[in-house]
Amino acid sequence: MFNDHIRRSIYLWIALVAFGCAGDGIGFTETFECEEGNFDCSVDAVLASYVNDFFTEAESRGRKFPKDNLVVTFADAIVIDGVGYSGRGWWDYNGTGQKRVEILKNAWGTLNDSEREILMFHELGHAMLERGHRNSRFSNCDRASIMCGDICDGFYLAYVLTHDERRTYYIDELFDPCVEPPSWSETSLPASTSSVIFLTDTIGVENENWVPFLGENAEAGISDSVASSGKYSLVIVAGEQETTHSSVLQYEIRDIPGGASGATFKVKVKVKTEDVVGKWAMSLQARNASDRLVFNENTLACQTLDGTTDFQVFELYHHCFEDNIESISLNIGFTGGTTGTMYIDDLQFLYQK
Ligand SMILES: [Zn+2]
Repeated sequence: MFNDHIRRSIYLWIALVAFGCAGDGIGFTETFECEEGNFDCSVDAVLASYVNDFFTEAESRGRKFPKDNLVVTFADAIVIDGVGYSGRGWWDYNGTGQKRVEILKNAWGTLNDSEREILMFHELGHAMLERGHRNSRFSNCDRASIMCGDICDGFYLAYVLTHDERRTYYIDELFDPCVEPPSWSETSLPASTSSVIFLTDTIGVENENWVPFLGENAEAGISDSVASSGKYSLVIVAGEQETTHSSVLQYEIRDIPGGASGATFKVKVKVKTEDVVGKWAMSLQARNASDRLVFNENTLACQTLDGTTDFQVFELYHHCFEDNIESISLNIGFTGGTTGTMYIDDLQFLYQK
């Protein structure tokens, strides 16, 4: 018994030297209290205080998760497609339903307390909240989310623990991506702002630029009876589905005018709905010459258009535009499980400088 105790103390001491003091000085006195369940549950003692903080932040926002399905552990290497990462989170590890987070052992020691929290909350955002990446920028160029993916340099710097206002926003956003942008994120454009429209599509009979990606029991085409301007609009009709798969139309552009570095890139579109039950979304993705994602803005299905509406203008922005863009694709349509009819007209791509 005594020897065991000594051995454990030495082990903990070595762990302290290796990783520095965890968190707020409480060290390893915190543990994650697992509940009985059908999945594995264990959290490394070095990481437990950060995981507990996540559950506390969730609970203070009315979200309570069972503590019976979560493995949080250190890994010696985290490599995806030949690229190394500091952490990885799964909500369905190997298709087993197991929630799992791995933190790169060598990285943890180089991070300060704020960075450790952001890394852990990001990975738990994947594992516990089943969130994907959100790479949007605000007009002041700050990232909109700590769920920023591998195209976001320095997302660890989103907030520091002592800056309550920023931390509160980013954690609110973690649990509710539809939360309003904070006031500090808005930089008003100067009075001299000018818009340069570089592509307009009022929808004609010829529209080979639009490619449909449809779920089961959905159709897309051109309507010659409904239009906001001209004679035609695009239409998506979605019926009941056995499997929930989104139904979208994709528009790709390749001739992007140069010299717009730092500008706000905007897409405007008019949408009309009929008997819609569910949600719709719009996303805008840009890739560089090596086909790597440069930005990915989307409405996150925060906008509902239930029922029947006349044409309304919707806009999607990408602030602080990066210049080395090869192609941009816009997706617009219903998210999985939505039924009804959507008309799309008067598409515009523009810059504001
Ligand atoms: Zn991630």
